[in-house]
Amino acid sequence: MDPIKRPTRYQDLADPQARPRYTGIPTFFRTPATESLADTDIGVIGVPYDGGVTNRSGTRHGPRAVRDQSSLLRRIHPTTLLAPFEVARVRDLGDCWIEQPFALEGALGEVAEFYHTIIGAGVVPLSVGGDHSISLPILRAVAAKRPVGMVHIDAHCDTGDDYLGSRFHHGAPFRRATEEGLLDPQRVIQIGIRGTTNDPDMWGFSMRSGMRVLLMDEFHDKGWQFAAEEARRIVGSGPTYLSYDIDSLDPSQAPGTGTPEAGGITALEAIRLLRALRSIDFVGGDLVEVAPPFDVGTITAFNGASILFEILCLLVESWQRRKPA
Ligand code: MN
Ligand code: MN
Repeated sequence: MDPIKRPTRYQDLADPQARPRYTGIPTFFRTPATESLADTDIGVIGVPYDGGVTNRSGTRHGPRAVRDQSSLLRRIHPTTLLAPFEVARVRDLGDCWIEQPFALEGALGEVAEFYHTIIGAGVVPLSVGGDHSISLPILRAVAAKRPVGMVHIDAHCDTGDDYLGSRFHHGAPFRRATEEGLLDPQRVIQIGIRGTTNDPDMWGFSMRSGMRVLLMDEFHDKGWQFAAEEARRIVGSGPTYLSYDIDSLDPSQAPGTGTPEAGGITALEAIRLLRALRSIDFVGGDLVEVAPPFDVGTITAFNGASILFEILCLLVESWQRRKPA
């Protein structure tokens, strides 16, 4: 098929990712959009669903905002010099849209089914939510064959129980995932935990089940290097999922989220922490809870996209190590 326009002076521009970043259709990192899994190693997927939110909704608009802001990023990682799009076939697989979004448990079932297809094709999923309830159905596919460990960065443990008659909402995915045998709680670390609560046993399930809960006070006292050391120690060498809730960041750097908590991680600390996790075997990841209606000047979506690039690089490096030579 002949393109409408061919570069005449700068042949680099034949590659859509080399064109000026303000041009083109904003897929994730300006990667090729496809709904075919055949030529995909790492699939970046939007999950525009916020039916599990307990307070301020709006994360259904997250994937589009993060796609747009991700077009500001370039092709090569600044410290490792990894060029993820050259090493692996990274594709924007579009959105995991849901046919019946108003039936929560059914919607999560639809998400699980979608991800079973992704995993079945051997594609590594990198998802952008959506609220945090989507991580449960994603884990149902990612951990279908064996439980996984998890590095979970969030202001909240998300190991709550029934809320207003529903066992499924964005404050409970990791309790359900543990009960369903998808997570090995001994290999789970939760980093950045803070905030007020109505329940003195708020973090009880995490602690009793054996998860390492690294509260924000401890993070602040000991720093990102310590948090990274702890993460590597807890998850070890087994398969591990990475779940990044944008509300882990300080609200000054991520106001666009439904449940902000004062006194959080800076974007720089988050990036340094993620860069120190390169030895971990990551089998999937997500960025959740970006809520554009509350955002200020797109700062949340932009920091989210920057964190997403770090997670992408971790997934690509892990994929590369697992790939038969
Ligand atoms: Mn969360
Ligand atoms: Mn949270």
